[in-house]
Parts: sequence; structure tokens; C-alpha cells
Amino acid sequence: MAETLESLESRRERLYQVLAALGDFRRGTISVNYRKCGKPKCACAGREHPGHGPQYLWNATIGGGRARNLRLGPELDKVAQEVDTHRVFVRLCTDLVEVNEALCERRAVRAGGGGCAGVGSAEKRLRRRFARRRPAR
Ligand SMILES: [Zn+2]
Repeated sequence: MAETLESLESRRERLYQVLAALGDFRRGTISVNYRKCGKPKCACAGREHPGHGPQYLWNATIGGGRARNLRLGPELDKVAQEVDTHRVFVRLCTDLVEVNEALCERRAVRAGGGGCAGVGSAEKRLRRRFARRRPAR
């Protein structure tokens, strides 16, 4: 199904509008934990007892760094909403990349250069970049 440039552009516009209205979001996940406290006489020591809880924990590993976590009390609903919104944000970004790539492919190359960058500037830039990457001897 081939979409027109116009329909792709309006889809992109709608995605940006949704993106702008997202509100607060954060990475990570929320887990539910039950734990045994270890006291031999506590009810949780029984085999059938699930342990103390539920305890809600937000955790995230950001930038490959150390895991961050936070025990959630009254802020559970707020943080759950923020984490959900982040998921929507990521999906929107993927959609935006796809719609932009479809636009790139459909958009014709402008005849005669026309732009201020001029023909050949991208070529020069790429050549310089690859020259830098060449290993030094
Ligand atoms: Zn216990």
C-alpha cells in the first residue's frame, strides 16, 4: 500500500502532536516483590506463605550504567503512568523514524540543486569523515 507524500506528511504531523502532548515519562520497569524476612518465628517462614508484600520496585539500567531502583509507596500510580508513557514515547519514535524514512524514499531529488548547501557538500563531508576513520600508521 503506497501512501502519498501528503498522507505521510499528515501522519508525521499527527505523531509530533501526540508526542508533544505526552507529558512526563521515565524509563524502567516496575516489579512486584514478596520477601521472606528471615525471622524463624514470623508467619512468612511458613512454606505456603508468599512472603511480605507486595512491594513495588521501579528499576532501570540507564546508559549501561549501574541499575537504579526505587521502592514505591504512594507514588506507585504516578511512576506506573510515567513508565507506561515512556513505552508510548518509544513506540512513537519508531513510528516517526519509519514515516520519515518513507518520506525520504518518496521525496524526489530536487533538480538543479537549488538549496544553499549546494551539490557535492555531502560528498565532501563524507570523504572527510572516512579519511578520519582510516587507521593511522
Ligand atoms: Zn517475615
